Amino acid sequence: MNDYNLIIGSHVKMAGPDYYLGSVKEAISYGANTFMFYTGAPQNSRRVPTEKCHINEAVDLAIENNINMDNVICHAPYLINLGNIVNNETFELSKQMLKTELKRCSDFKSKILVLHPGSSLGEDRVLCLDQIAFAINEILEEDNSGVLIALETMAGKGNELCKNFDEMAYVLKKIVKKERIGVCLDTCHINDAGYDLSNFDCIINEFDEKIGIEKLKVIHVNDSKNPINSHKDRHENIGYGTIGFDKLLNVIYSPKLNGIPKILETPYINGIPPYKSEIEMIKSKKFNNSLK
Ligand code: FE
Ligand code: FE
Ligand code: ZN
Repeated sequence: MNDYNLIIGSHVKMAGPDYYLGSVKEAISYGANTFMFYTGAPQNSRRVPTEKCHINEAVDLAIENNINMDNVICHAPYLINLGNIVNNETFELSKQMLKTELKRCSDFKSKILVLHPGSSLGEDRVLCLDQIAFAINEILEEDNSGVLIALETMAGKGNELCKNFDEMAYVLKKIVKKERIGVCLDTCHINDAGYDLSNFDCIINEFDEKIGIEKLKVIHVNDSKNPINSHKDRHENIGYGTIGFDKLLNVIYSPKLNGIPKILETPYINGIPPYKSEIEMIKSKKFNNSLK
């Protein structure tokens, strides 16, 4: 256990005037050795040109501070819905956004792009899963960024796709460029989707059987405000939710997840990011009950 390679960080802001340099500084201030960022607001597609983002300075500072760029994660905008079979215009727009984002991700020297697979909008789920695979195959055929797309396991809120390992496996099997696809496992999402984290070995075995453990590239570590199978997706601070500190710690230090980047997406507390304290809790393996 002593030589466990813990790669831990949180999502961080990317805002002017420092942009990416500010993101790296924020991560360092939390005692993190990785981080996740959005290349712009996740809710829209407006993007600051990369030339303004201080990328080279940011990467230098990251490396000086023990952050391996191979572990730095980029998150795609929420607007992208590759599962859209209803409106061709928005489907094309989604593909365009993903193409742009892959390029941006590689400009920021990140090698992994987390993507929400999409929504069925009430249509046939299998056809929508086919649509996701079709879109990714089309994009990867032309794209030479080398960036890996990590599809995120979803809570199954509304019509979210890839709400279980079967749906995820179905999409991944259809991807032609296997080396460019992987999975991001979100602990809040799988709890809300019906997976009982009190038996994580069982979950990981199922993941391995259906998808393959080597496809697991990122863990989003979040507690949940809601019970198992609630299909809600509301993140809670580490140890303050229905999953609890011990079960999350068990995930974080799982020998099978050694060296896989783990990212906190827990809520701010009274407007203040909790990540320094949460990372301390995780490193010391001791729950701090005074955060809220
Ligand atoms: Fe996400
Ligand atoms: Fe997530
Ligand atoms: Zn979520």
